[in-house]
Amino acid sequence: MILQFSVKTSSNVQFIDITNQVSNTVSDSGIKNGLCIVYIPHTTAAVTINESADPAVISDITKEINKIVPFSDGYRHMEGNSAAHIKSSLFGVSSQIPIADGKLILGTWQGIFFCEFDGPRTRKVHIKLINN
Ligand code: ZN
Repeated sequence: MILQFSVKTSSNVQFIDITNQVSNTVSDSGIKNGLCIVYIPHTTAAVTINESADPAVISDITKEINKIVPFSDGYRHMEGNSAAHIKSSLFGVSSQIPIADGKLILGTWQGIFFCEFDGPRTRKVHIKLINN
């Protein structure tokens, strides 16, 4: 079963909490046990799981990733968005979350974040559910 939804981003680098959308997809599927794969079909975006309780964590991650991968650094890619491509590869375009009793197994503080690195844009998130 593959499902998808869209995410609209509003700035160049932005982390958007998509935990509810992913959880709802799992609930709607009726799957009780298995695996949820969140896949981002983009080269300048990613997905990550991290703390959703304190927004300062995402703010710190954003600040540091922009320091680690500066927006310009003599990159050769002509489109001018190499920083976004590099960030996408560092975070990765998929996450896997086990499903038990019809729910995602996420820690108390964990949330699933769509990572925009070349926004604002409208992006796709694909969800593959494996019933097992
Ligand atoms: Zn590019």
